[in-house]
Amino acid sequence: MKKDPNHPGFIPKMYCSLFGHNYQVTKKVTYHVKEYTCSHCKKQLTTSGNGDLIELTPKFREINAILERIHEKRLSRSRQKTITSSIY
Ligand SMILES: [Zn+2]
Repeated sequence: MKKDPNHPGFIPKMYCSLFGHNYQVTKKVTYHVKEYTCSHCKKQLTTSGNGDLIELTPKFREINAILERIHEKRLSRSRQKTITSSIY
């Protein structure tokens, strides 16, 4: 097969349409919400509120950023609690 340097995205996209996307977790937002990227065509997905996989639009990216902040705040609070309880 001859490679065309002007169309680097052609082969991966064709691969995905033939074999399906190969999504990998690129970011853990919360315990339940993750972001996925296809290793071939770089299409991104995220987990919706229903637990379904949906396309990662700028709007959902924004929602995930907020979720991530809340999640981290909760984590650091629970970590502090553990430290305190181990002292007493
Ligand atoms: Zn793909």
